[in-house]
Amino acid sequence: MSIASKIQELQNDLPKNVTLVAVSKTKPVNALEEAYNAGQRVFGENKIQEMVEKWEVLPKDISWHMIGHVQRNKVKYMAEFVDLIHGVDNFKLLKEINKQAQKHNRVINCLLQIKIAEEDSKFGMSAEEATALLASEEFKQLENIAIVGVMGMATFTNDMTQVRQEFKNLKTTFNQLQPMHAALEIISMGMSGDYELAIEEGSTMVRIGSSIFGARNHL
Ligand SMILES: *Cc1c(COP(=O)(O)O)cnc(C)c1O
Repeated sequence: MSIASKIQELQNDLPKNVTLVAVSKTKPVNALEEAYNAGQRVFGENKIQEMVEKWEVLPKDISWHMIGHVQRNKVKYMAEFVDLIHGVDNFKLLKEINKQAQKHNRVINCLLQIKIAEEDSKFGMSAEEATALLASEEFKQLENIAIVGVMGMATFTNDMTQVRQEFKNLKTTFNQLQPMHAALEIISMGMSGDYELAIEEGSTMVRIGSSIFGARNHL
């Protein structure tokens, strides 16, 4: 199936309250153009340099999401244009995003990455750490960032019962945090292999790569 028809199929099938992030990491600019021409405006990348290169050449009405792990010293390269950073999992990173956003006189939207998977390799905060962050005085002083939701990645497994439980846990964490921070509205969970399950468990933003653009050769 072509990229364009895959985009159209997803746009038709996804519930209206669910945002599709087309994960275009490792894919060439012409693949993104094909998705763009099919109406897609939200793209997710996991490397800052690659995202900057694509941002420079593609139409300016694209909403760029950084979905990968963010190194503090690279925030400055995307601060001018990034629309949403999914993987914020510590206060020092948030502080740096705030500082770089200030230089461009803008507010950068962020999601707190919550660790829901079993694997040690997956980044993220516990629900307790997220609660403490949102309650802290130093967080309240950051005026150039907005925490607008949570993000999580399930364990890489074929055990869909486990994946469903991990999504349920993220939704529970969201429900705990939401009363203390009214701006929280996004739950970013679900990828090509598990987005239908994620939507059943309350996802409002799915990050889909390989089922739109085909398999990747490397990550
Ligand atoms: C690569 C990636 C995706 C997309 O994965 P697919 O299985 O290709 O849909 C989603 N989220 C994150 C954080 C990723 O790194």
